[in-house]
Order: sequence, then C-alpha cells, then structure tokens
Amino acid sequence: MSANDQVQHQLDAVIIGAGFSGMYQMHCLRDRLGLSVLGLEMAEGVGGTWYWNRYPGARCDSESHSYSYYFSEELLKTWTWSERYPGYAEILRYLNFVADRYDLKRSFKFKTKVVSAHYDEAANCWEVCTDDGTRYRTRFLISAVGNLSSANIPTIPGLEQFKGKWYHTGQWPHEGVDFSGLRVGVVGTGSTGIQAIPVIAEQAKTLTVFQRTANYSIPAHNGPLDDAFKAYCKERPEEIRAIMHATPNGHPFYISETLALSRSEEERRTIYEKAWEKGGLRFRASFKDLLSSEAANQTAAEFIKQKIRKTVKDPRKAQLLSDIDHPFAAKRPPIDTNYFETYNLDHVDLVNIREDPITSIVNTGIQTKNALFELDAIVFATGFDAMTRPVLNLNLKGRHGQKLEDAWHAGPLNYLGLQVPGFPNFFMVTGPGSPGVLVNMPVAIEQHVEWISDCIAHMRAKDLHHVEAQAQASAQWMQEVNQAAAATLLPKAKHSWYLGANIPGKPRVFMPYAGGMAHYRKRCETITANGYEGFLMA
Ligand code: NAP
Repeated sequence: MSANDQVQHQLDAVIIGAGFSGMYQMHCLRDRLGLSVLGLEMAEGVGGTWYWNRYPGARCDSESHSYSYYFSEELLKTWTWSERYPGYAEILRYLNFVADRYDLKRSFKFKTKVVSAHYDEAANCWEVCTDDGTRYRTRFLISAVGNLSSANIPTIPGLEQFKGKWYHTGQWPHEGVDFSGLRVGVVGTGSTGIQAIPVIAEQAKTLTVFQRTANYSIPAHNGPLDDAFKAYCKERPEEIRAIMHATPNGHPFYISETLALSRSEEERRTIYEKAWEKGGLRFRASFKDLLSSEAANQTAAEFIKQKIRKTVKDPRKAQLLSDIDHPFAAKRPPIDTNYFETYNLDHVDLVNIREDPITSIVNTGIQTKNALFELDAIVFATGFDAMTRPVLNLNLKGRHGQKLEDAWHAGPLNYLGLQVPGFPNFFMVTGPGSPGVLVNMPVAIEQHVEWISDCIAHMRAKDLHHVEAQAQASAQWMQEVNQAAAATLLPKAKHSWYLGANIPGKPRVFMPYAGGMAHYRKRCETITANGYEGFLMA
C-alpha cells in the first residue's frame, strides 16, 4: 500500500470536472447547501473545455453576453465581455474570475484524474479512486466532465514515424505553436478546423487542408462590443435571461415563426441576406422549419452554397467546398471569420480525402492514395469521442458491480440525461439524453446543476439517502429522445458526432435530446412536482 493508497474521510459529494458545470455545482452544493464537497480535476486549473482547446482561433459560437452564468446579478453586473463572441483566453479569464469570486479553487484537487469509481451497495456510497492512489468515499457522485473532452485522434498507420510535430486541437500546447515558415496540414473541417484554418494560414508557409466532408459555415461577424450594448447587458439581464429560457436552443434571440416556403423566393432571399449580415447562429433562426422540413432546409442550404461558390475564386476548390452532403445545421453549424476567403490565398490548398483517402503518415508527411504531401506539422481538428467517452473513462461500476460500459453497450441508456439506472446517487451534468450540446451550454448547465442541487436538498429535507433512475422510465425516455430526433433533420448527417458516427465501432444512437431546452425544462419541473416521477427514492 502506497502512502496515498488510503481511504479519505466520507464526503457528501464528489464533483468531477472544474469547467462551467463543476464550478457552479460546487457553489450550489458547498455554499448553498453546506455540504462537504470535493472537486477532482485533471487539469492544472479551472476552465474545462476552454482549458484544453487553446488552438489558433478558438472562440465560442454563443454570443458572449449569453455565454455567462446567470445565477448571480452581481456577476452579470461586474463582468464585461469585450467581443461579440468570446475567445478562449477571455473565457478562461472569466471562469477564473468566477472561481476567485466564490473561492471555488480551494475545494478542487487539480492535476488529479479519476481512474475508477464503484458503488458500495451496503454502505450506499461511492468509492472514487484517483491516479495518485487516493480513495474517496462519497454519498453523491457528480460527473461534470463535459461532452467534448475526449479527443478523437484518428488511427492512421505511421503517425509515429512522422518527423515533424503533430497536434490535436483539443490538447493544444499552452505555450502556443509558431507555424511561421512551416508547411502545415490540417485534417478536419468541423467547427474547430473552420476556426483554426484561417488563423494558421496567416502564419504557415503553406497550408494543406484535408477535407472528408464539406461543411456549411456562417460568417461570425465578430468584433468589439460597443458601450451601449455593454450597458444593456448590465441593465437588463432579466430580459436576456427570459429570452434564453423561452427558446428551444437557449440563445438570446427568438426563432422566426415563419415557414420558409410561405415566402416568395425573393422575400426569402432578402431574409437570408439580412441574416447573413447579422451572422452567427442567428442565421439558423431565419425560419421556423429549417430543421424540420427538408424543402425548407434546402432553401437555406442552397443560399449558403451559392455564397461559397461566389466567395471562392478557384472553381475546383469552390466545387469541393460547396459539395455538402447533409442538411444545413444537421451538424452543429460552424461560424467563421474568413474561412472560405482563406482558400483564395495562393499558399492554401484543399485535398478531397473522400476521393483520395489518407492511406498513411510517413516520416515526411501525409500519404494519400494518389499523392504524398510533404509537411512539417500536422493539426488534427478531428473532433471528439463525444458525450459518452468522457463519462465512460471514469470506469464506473454501479449496483452488483455492473460496468457503465456494459450498461451502455447499445447506447447511453439514461433518464433525462441526469441518471443511469443501476447507478444510484450518480448524476451527470448535461449528459447524453439531455439537450445540452444542442443549446447554449451555460443555460443547459445551470438548469441541470440547479435540478441536481434541488434533488439533493429535497432528499436531505426528507431524510432520503438513495436516488436512482427507474429502468422503465429510462427506457421510455430513450424512446422520447429517439422520437424527438426523428422529428428533425438532425439524424440525416451521417458522420455526425451527435450520432456517434465519427467513432468506428461506437453504437449509432442519436445521443442528445432534440425536443428543445424550454420544453425539457418544463418536463423536468413537472417530474419534480410529481414527486420525482421516474426516480426511485429511499
Ligand atoms: P467535428 O465537428 O466532429 O469535426 C471533425 C472533422 O474531422 C470533420 O470534418 C471530420 O470529417 C474530420 N475527421 C474526423 N475523423 C477523421 C479521419 N479519421 N480522417 C479524416 N477526417 C476526419 O469536430 P470539431 O470540429 O472539433 O467540433 C466538435 C464540436 O465542438 C462542434 O460541433 C461544436 O459543438 C464544438 N465546437 C464549438 C466551437 C464554437 O463554439 N465555435 C468551436 C469548435 C468546436 P467527417 O465530417 O467526414 O467525419
């Protein structure tokens, strides 16, 4: 037994992760409920996704005034965002500011990885083991590990032979990377690649983009916020909050009530042009049915494809970039700064790896079926094993020693994205089965954290010690999750991480709840009002 291999004292709650979710969960349980709580975090500091994703151009696609905690008027009045969309560095400053304001860091143990946790049925508690050999016993275990925190590094033969340096955007070196004078290859054209490519192109000697699936992107029109807007945010936060709580995706703007095909082609074009000028995710709100009607969606898709063809001068590149195989916004729609314009630079090339696939990586670069691309650096903007992997990596064992991996062999069985049957007193913040990743994350996070905190407060008030999702309620919820997705065009993107389709061998299940945040919130409230319907409490 090592010095550390010892059981620490009994805690009320252990929270895993110190991002947006874990920090607020800590504040609620420690400061509002007065529980003994420990936070465990792999990174050296707070920040979660923003701690790791420091790649060039990393920026949020939620508007900064909505990408904030709304639980405290004081916070809203004290913090001022500088730009329409916050960059990673500003978000990290914000999260550190919140952590310091509430003195949260003292309750987190950083540089500490949870390697496993099992439920001790006799004692009705979880035993959590960390990589330094310490074991913690806790009544409640809360995963606040994020949905996009497990990097997907493709297994391409020969990577270890590459003589240059390679990076995954989700594990970016904190000291930054200087690409000046280098021949750089970027693999992946999702939200991340689309943000990174224009910035890397500014430095690199040559940039070769390896595209498997062409993607839509809307100009972000990022820029500094003016004083009038900053004052509005401080003076009328209730108004902004009310909109965010009323809309399906938690953003601070309404979705139009108009059906796309109810307007003439010319009227539609004017609406899309205006939305294009506004930029960002607001474009998606142009019509009510863009995500439910293929015909409506095609009007938006065609508008964007025309913009791409008009922007990109080289006809070959323009064709490759606008040959998009899925409905608009069926994948999370990227927003960009000069993405398509970047392909007009002479030193930026585009390779269609669907037609000419990557076969290996050799010491000098990337080998496709037909050509060798000599490179000094490779950037994998290849996304994440999303939603389930970060939770599975905790190596949880629930009742009767059941492994979460086994409970989820056919997909992430859960109730409301909050709990898994057979795993009592274990909660997930914005887990699979909840709307989180489809909405403005802080809105979803606050709702979940408050629900979990209220549930624990209720249990304490009633002297209850055990809460667990019922199997039947979970099975029914999975049906609702499927039905909600089927009512949209979201499952039509074949390679999307929403479906787990980006990871070989992963069950193809639409994971997030697509019924909308406002509806989901009401659903949770009703379930609570009905005595925590679908949960077993004892
Ligand atoms: P992603 O959307 O999953 O995109 C990954 C890209 O890598 C895709 O183009 C994919 O091609 C390609 N790829 C994956 N594996 C590959 C392989 N083996 N060979 C070649 N290409 C491969 O990942 P992401 O861009 O990191 O974005 C993930 C999510 O993070 C977003 O959807 C969004 O929710 C969030 N995000 C948000 C922001 C923001 O707020 N602005 C920025 C970045 C990320 P296929 O499409 O063919 O699979």
